Order: sequence, then structure tokens, then C-alpha cells
Amino acid sequence: MVYVADDARYEPMPYRRVGRSGLKLPAVSLGLWQNFGDDKPIANQRAILRRAFDLGVTHFDLANNYGPPAGSAESNFGQILREDFRPYRDEMIISSKAGYDMWPGPYGVMGSRKYLLASLDQSLNRLGLDYVDIFYSHRADPDTPLEETMGALHTAVTSGRALYAGISSYSPELTREAVRIMNDLGTPLVIHQPSYSMFNRWIEADLLDTVDELGLGVIAFSPLAQGLLTDRYLGEVPADSRAAKGGSLKSGMLNDETLGRVKALNEIASGRGQSLAQLAISWALRNDRVTSALIGASSVTQLEQNLAAVQNLTFEEAELAAIDEHAKD
Ligand code: NDP
Repeated sequence: MVYVADDARYEPMPYRRVGRSGLKLPAVSLGLWQNFGDDKPIANQRAILRRAFDLGVTHFDLANNYGPPAGSAESNFGQILREDFRPYRDEMIISSKAGYDMWPGPYGVMGSRKYLLASLDQSLNRLGLDYVDIFYSHRADPDTPLEETMGALHTAVTSGRALYAGISSYSPELTREAVRIMNDLGTPLVIHQPSYSMFNRWIEADLLDTVDELGLGVIAFSPLAQGLLTDRYLGEVPADSRAAKGGSLKSGMLNDETLGRVKALNEIASGRGQSLAQLAISWALRNDRVTSALIGASSVTQLEQNLAAVQNLTFEEAELAAIDEHAKD
């Protein structure tokens, strides 16, 4: 059936400004790292994307290597974009990245100009787009001069293949340097994409202050700690869960100590009338230096539950203190 977006789609979701740029992102954005490869039914992918857009999610985050196999998430998203979302392209912020292993040999990984621009062209081809809204350096490359990696992002923007440039998982020091280089080139970086959750608080030490001072926005990836910060693992490990697949979420992470903290946080969530997933998302967004929480979802039910987190983004001091007891790296 032809997809027609819900007229009420902009009502439920707050939109937050990305640093000091003109761009706004939904408080919750959807990532396609897992759940959108060729191993997942396209009908489920389509249902998740349609529901997300109907609930105000305007930002969809991809990378060259998302799948499996690498590239298939962009191809599948490109197909659904063509079939369902073509009339809505100007209402969407679509991002991609390059930095991790993509094709064999020295030009298919890390941060060279050769790799970044070839990869971006391949991503555009798979997506069926002329441009992405945000193009990221997916990780810092210690062997490539930062001027070269940033120069490639600058070319991506000036050549019209991307509207904005971003960096992911860069240290505060490299972020500062990258911003200086990009300002000199005349293409300011607008966004940093780091990991951040109640179980991974590294950005609180320095990065948040650094990006705040520099005027970048932050989109926090894996705010649910890949599903740990949900009710998914409160009982037996479900057969269809990420942990059961033994990929990026190792079953060793489900130890008694961690699960004890998950249970304690689940109690705090209940006290707020939220699910644990909702608490984790609200907490990541509790101060507006985090522009957007970048979640994953393997079903429409998960997605709907997660997006409802935006209905309660405020915390009492006592709640934050109670969370701090258990929210540790
Ligand atoms: P999350 O921490 O949100 O984990 C998502 C997973 O948690 C889902 O696949 C699902 O697991 C489980 N889950 C989600 N909602 C619920 C719920 N309500 N109840 C129970 N379980 C739930 O994020 P991801 O780790 O998926 O990362 C999100 C995005 O961040 C990626 O798609 C990508 O765009 C970006 N990212 C960027 C990186 C970078 O280097 N820049 C690295 C990693 C991610 P299950 O499959 O078991 O159902």
C-alpha cells in the first residue's frame, strides 16, 4: 500500500538545535546499524521506518558498513526511501559515515581522502541519493594527518555530496583540533557522535564541555547500551536478542553485577512510571547539551516504547542521585 505520512507527525516529538548550527534534530533519532541488514525481513524494516517517521523521527543514521553484509543497510534504506519516502526527502535528515572496514586493501578503511570520498560516493549510490545531510568521519585515524581527513569532509560538503560534516568518537583534544581545521577551511563541523549511556559516561569528563564551548551538537549513540538498559535481559536471554547472537553485545556483559544494576535502575524507572528503556533515553537527554539520543529498535513495539520517553525528560535531584548509584561505566 502506498505510504502516506501521518498528518500529526510533528506533534509528539521535541526538536533540538544542533549546537550553534541552524540544524535541528529530533530528541530521539533512529540508527540502522543493526536490524536493517539483509538478515532482517524488509517488511519489518519498512514498518519500523514508517512508524518512526509518523511519530516525528526525522533523522535516520547510517554508515557505509551497516548491515550485514556491509552496505546492505544503506541499500535497504535506499529501497524503502524510493518506495515510501520520496515525497518526504526534504523532511528527513539522513547521515552516513566512513571509517571502519569497508572493502579490501589500504583504501577501504580509516581516514584517507581516497577512502572517505570513494566511500561517500558508494553510499550515495546505495541510498539512491544525490546528497546525505550529514557525513561523518566514523573514527579518528592516527596514521592520516587530521588535515587530510577534515579536508575530505570539507570537499564532501563543498562538492554538494553532504550538507553538514561531523565526527564520531573523537577525543576532546582531537575534536578541538578538527574544529580549528574545519573553521579554517570554512566548513564548520556541526556535530559529534559519541557513545553515551548510563553504563558508559566517558563524555561527561571533558567531551561535553569541549563541544559545548566549540558550539557543536552531540548525538549520543547506544543510549540503551545495546539493549542492556531495557527489560530484555531481566529474565532468560531471549533467542532473538542481540546478546544471543554473540555479536557486538557479548553475553559476558550480562554478568550478575551488571544485571543487579539493571534491576535497580528498572525499579527507579518504575517509580517514575517509565520502562527502563524510557528512563535510559530520558536520562541521556536530561540536559540539552545532548541534542539527540540515537537508538536502535528491532521491532515497532520497541520503537514506540522508546519514543514515548520524550513525554518525561525532567528529573528530580533525588532521582538523579539514586541513578548515579548504579549508572557507572
Ligand atoms: P541502543 O543502545 O538503542 O540498542 C538498540 C537495541 O536495544 C535494539 O536493537 C534492541 O535489541 C534493544 N532495544 C531497543 N529498544 C528496546 C526496548 N524498548 N525494549 C527492549 N529492548 C530494546 O542502540 P544501538 O547500539 O542499536 O545503536 C544505535 C545507533 O547508534 C546505531 O544504529 C548507529 O546508528 C549508531 N551507532 C554509532 C556508532 C558509531 O561508531 N558512531 C557505533 C554504534 C552505534 P534487540 O535487537 O536485542 O531486540
